[in-house]
Amino acid sequence: MGKTFLQHPGGVRLYSCAKCDTVLTNKSQLISMRFTGATGRAFLFNKVVNITFSEVQDRMMLTGRHMVRDVSCKKCDAKLGWMYEYAVVESQRYKEGRVILERALVSEGDGIDEIGLN
Ligand SMILES: [Zn+2]
Repeated sequence: MGKTFLQHPGGVRLYSCAKCDTVLTNKSQLISMRFTGATGRAFLFNKVVNITFSEVQDRMMLTGRHMVRDVSCKKCDAKLGWMYEYAVVESQRYKEGRVILERALVSEGDGIDEIGLN
């Protein structure tokens, strides 16, 4: 086992793991805030870093059948949301390869670019 290398997406308005503060993504990757997860409100992101994926699961959702992978924090292994691997319904294909982070499982904070500018 080597050291876990964590990436930093940079930018302002960062989203981090609520449990261990590992940075996951930023606001420029945010596609939609109108999603619902197991814990309530959830956000759809274009790109998320520092995460691990489970095996593909077949899941029936309000918007139809999807193949998804659960997404967990690379550092502390906390569950964060899921990724859409494949959408059966044509109108839902835009979500493929994109990641849902549940609002209750991530924390929002200011980016490194803003530190010291006050
Ligand atoms: Zn974590």
